[in-house]
Amino acid sequence: MADNPMAASNCIFCKILKGEIPSNKVWENKKFLAILDINPITPGHFMIIPKHHVDYFYDLPGDEYQEIFELAKKLERPLRNATGAKKIGLVVEGFAVPHAHLHLVPLHKSNDIDPCKAKPGVSHEMKIMAEKIRFELGKEIMRGTKF
Ligand SMILES: [Zn+2]
Repeated sequence: MADNPMAASNCIFCKILKGEIPSNKVWENKKFLAILDINPITPGHFMIIPKHHVDYFYDLPGDEYQEIFELAKKLERPLRNATGAKKIGLVVEGFAVPHAHLHLVPLHKSNDIDPCKAKPGVSHEMKIMAEKIRFELGKEIMRGTKF
């Protein structure tokens, strides 16, 4: 498994984590960052990213592997409320960026899950969407969900 410093130095997610590249942040804690995908499959599509470089998702340490799915469970309702989606799909593929991440994709119908539908998001629309999701997250926290 090993966090490879050479791989990490060229990794776009590691650069985002270091603040070298801007992103539309949805949420973060000490171990994970959630940001909008710049090529959303549907609007609101975001990713949960562990804050250290591991290439292959299944190489995440056991506790982080479990935590990333627990986070998905907590973050799905705010995303659903922000987008009006019927369901939130989960995708792990990892061909675009070699740094483990879990996609949360708002789904309005079953074939929305197709990663081939990903296309560049519009910058100002993504900023508004990130704000909407953060607002819904705030309501989730008010309901008593602990993050
Ligand atoms: Zn990385």
